[in-house]
Amino acid sequence: MSTGLNEKITEDSGPVGASSDSGEPGAGTPSYDGTGSVEYSPSKGFLLILLAISALAVTAILFFFWYVPTVGLSAIHPALPYAVGVTAASLAFLLVGGMAAVFLAILTGRTIFSSGPLRWALFKIYLPLMLIAGKLVRIPKIKIERAFLDINNGIVLKMRRRIKPGRVLILMPHCIQYEDCKIKVTKDVSNCVSCGKCEIADLLTVMEEFGVELFVSTGGTVARRKVVELRPHAVIAVACERDLISGVRDAYPMPVFGIVNTRPMGYCTSTGVDIGFVKEAVRNFLS
Ligand code: SF4
Repeated sequence: MSTGLNEKITEDSGPVGASSDSGEPGAGTPSYDGTGSVEYSPSKGFLLILLAISALAVTAILFFFWYVPTVGLSAIHPALPYAVGVTAASLAFLLVGGMAAVFLAILTGRTIFSSGPLRWALFKIYLPLMLIAGKLVRIPKIKIERAFLDINNGIVLKMRRRIKPGRVLILMPHCIQYEDCKIKVTKDVSNCVSCGKCEIADLLTVMEEFGVELFVSTGGTVARRKVVELRPHAVIAVACERDLISGVRDAYPMPVFGIVNTRPMGYCTSTGVDIGFVKEAVRNFLS
């Protein structure tokens, strides 16, 4: 797997979805050349180091919590330290085993789990751990987030559910709209008159071509409300790394394929997205 969104990735060589321009729905293996306006391509080496640091830290912490109370526990019952030890060792085994799966995903481009539990652990356990480890060795948070989005997308692709078009929701941030456009697309995206000054016109075409849902959200709360209202079976979300991470985490267990936006003007202003990636993500869910 490649860990950078600005590297070409296929399901066999990496987890982030969406293939080239085969053109036909369902054709080809998805790949994703997620070129953002900001280069934050994480290297495999630093991710592996972070994982190793996290694994060591987790094992040390569990050992500490087993060893320190051992003296007191043996006073209650001589078997108690062993029972707690077995529990701590099982926990360590699960955590380190999960890390090994993430490790393999980074190293080989293959996600060995096809469904939820790894995604859950990825964002609830390993990402916070790696962010702490990253802070210690001064690795930008954004690199770690991108790598985790790659892995998430790989797992989502592996889930291989075939979804009806009406159950796929493309979720866009409001900052993608041309900033001087006065048309209210957040209420109803079909208000857009397709002048072509921003990519909402292209997204409308995608919506019509595939019959999927499209929503332009003014914020996270509105987006969550829309997800609850529409009850999609899969979401293709476009946003910055931070918002994607929190969206993927909040929407769990729903599969969310995250595409990092382009930001030629910086964050939150006139952002963009490569429509080709969106189309390929849609094809992947429908095929
Ligand atoms: S494409 Fe639509 S949303 Fe974008 S500027 Fe034109 S009318 Fe406004």
